[in-house]
Amino acid sequence: MTGYNKFNQDTNIIGIIGHPIKHSYSPLMHNISFEIKNLNYIYLPFDVPINTLKAAIKGMVALGIKGFNITLPHKENIIAYLRNVSEEASIIGAVNTVVNDNGILSGYNTDVNGVYETLLPYKDEITGQKVSIFGAGGGARSVIYTLIRNFKPEKIQIINRTEQKGESLREYFSTRMHFTDIKSYELIPPDLVDVLRDSKLIINTTSVGMYPNVDDSVTSIPQSFVKGQVVFDLIYNPLKTRLLQLAESQGATVIDGLRMLVHQGAKSFELWTGEEMPVEKINKALKLYIDTK
Ligand code: NAP
Repeated sequence: MTGYNKFNQDTNIIGIIGHPIKHSYSPLMHNISFEIKNLNYIYLPFDVPINTLKAAIKGMVALGIKGFNITLPHKENIIAYLRNVSEEASIIGAVNTVVNDNGILSGYNTDVNGVYETLLPYKDEITGQKVSIFGAGGGARSVIYTLIRNFKPEKIQIINRTEQKGESLREYFSTRMHFTDIKSYELIPPDLVDVLRDSKLIINTTSVGMYPNVDDSVTSIPQSFVKGQVVFDLIYNPLKTRLLQLAESQGATVIDGLRMLVHQGAKSFELWTGEEMPVEKINKALKLYIDTK
């Protein structure tokens, strides 16, 4: 299916709603996947300001849009409009994927799949170990949920700029998931160096170091890292953040955010189409796109 005949009355429309929306890689990722799999689908971005969410959802249902992603600032507010919410989305308190089954909307959080698939190759090294997490936002919630469910950490240490937010997250997960070996800290060296050195897995879920602020890092102290550690940065632009460069210089294993991005997309793709996303091809295509941008 190519050219002007490609889209017709049978085309399934998928979207993403958020505000702002123009930096999302999801349209590229899903439209390439539809093309590769020869599926009659199209993925479109919709800029939906905060006070128009309800009208936008009514419109999506009226137009028969098959499903959509949700990004900031709607990930939490969308829940009020859904008939079903999956277990992980309900615990995390945020939905990033909706399936529209003839007007019945069901919500999921596929970031969990992204985190899980990213960490799976390191399962033997990281299971049952101490973890330090920078940040206490939406990304941190998906990470903490996935760690508790799948990697049984010995201890989770949340390090956040706003101490109160880190503390709220600590309280939330210890109550909601009955995981009590969880602590929160402010971002202050020199104690920070010891906390990090003592962690087998370090995860950055903040936006510190993201383009255009590529020289920033949640820590600039090389001694924070040791050989044998695994350091995962959720950021995918740039792929090698300053944090990962520092960690790599000390012999740590480093993981960028691209795999998480692709695997959260793959789970959404599967929920909408029932098909597997060609993840390795998409990984390559996005890497090329990011490297040449
Ligand atoms: P969010 O909910 O807004 O949380 C942002 C976090 O970053 C908060 O903890 C915030 O601390 C912290 N932060 C922001 N600016 C900071 C600064 N200058 N210094 C110290 N801390 C700072 O955002 P999010 O949705 O979790 O996303 C965070 C990052 O993860 C983004 O870069 C996003 O692209 C990435 N991400 C990637 C994927 C993927 O698929 N790879 C998925 C989700 C998110 P305060 O609490 O003090 O404000």
